[in-house]
Amino acid sequence: MPQAIASVIISSNAATLVVEDLKLKSRGLPTGLAKAVSTMPQQPGLVEQGLVICEANGHPVQLVRQSTQTLNFKMHTECGGTIDRIIGQWDHAPCLQYGDRVNTHRNAAILLASIIQ
Ligand SMILES: [Zn+2]
Repeated sequence: MPQAIASVIISSNAATLVVEDLKLKSRGLPTGLAKAVSTMPQQPGLVEQGLVICEANGHPVQLVRQSTQTLNFKMHTECGGTIDRIIGQWDHAPCLQYGDRVNTHRNAAILLASIIQ
C-alpha cells in the first residue's frame, strides 16, 4: 500500500499531499458508512511510509494534515451549491444547485487541494 501511495504521488508530480485528519470508528455509524470505514486501510503511518518512498526516489513531498472541522464537504466545488448527501449516497450525490450528480470523493479531494492554492 505505501508503494501505491508513492506511485500515485510521483506520477502526479505533486509537491504537497493534503490528507484529511480523520480518526474514524465504524461503531455507531449507519451500515453503509460503517462498511466503507471498515474497508479503509487502518495501518498507522501508511501515508508517511509512502512519502519516505517518494523521497527515496528523488521526489520529496510536503504532508499537510487538514482538520475536517474547518471544511464544508457538502459544498460542490464546481458551482458552490450544496451536495444533498443522504444515507446510501456516499460515492455520488446530487447537487441541489443544478441537480448535477457529484462524485463526492473527487469533490472532497478538490476541496482539500484548494487549501494550499
Ligand atoms: Zn453543483
